[in-house]
Amino acid sequence: MSTYEIVPISPERLDAMRVKDEDEFGNPWKPFPAEGWEPLRCCLRKAEPGEAVALICYTPWTEPSPWMEAGPVFVHAERCGGYPTPDRYPDDMARGKCMFNTFDHDGNRAYDHITFVSPGDSYEETLAELLGRPEVAFVHVRSVAAGCLAFEARPAR
Ligand SMILES: [Zn+2]
Repeated sequence: MSTYEIVPISPERLDAMRVKDEDEFGNPWKPFPAEGWEPLRCCLRKAEPGEAVALICYTPWTEPSPWMEAGPVFVHAERCGGYPTPDRYPDDMARGKCMFNTFDHDGNRAYDHITFVSPGDSYEETLAELLGRPEVAFVHVRSVAAGCLAFEARPAR
């Protein structure tokens, strides 16, 4: 039994962007062939060379918040199957030095719980332990090197 749920970008939000032909910030939806290293935030795996992907600006927040951050992420240009195993930490995502950015139940950053992990640490155990703390409502996993959002994680429902 897993203690957390990995939350990729909502497929419905991505569909709406594809229909509108732009992301939620007005950047045009411009598919291009992947080189094969791009981390895809819709299904949490690396792109295959030649797959049609798009670079968009994305924020995980759906309501106004002073903590809102938006940034560049790669996604599939067309709808994909999403992330198949939300109870498992993605095998090849966010395995470099990462910030586990913690938020409380009011949606404020929970500074005391912010944790950095590096290769050699157990990403799974650290994430589960953080989400087991009563003060922590959700976590944003970010790459320290690129600063971009990898995915959100919440306690399993
Ligand atoms: Zn995808």
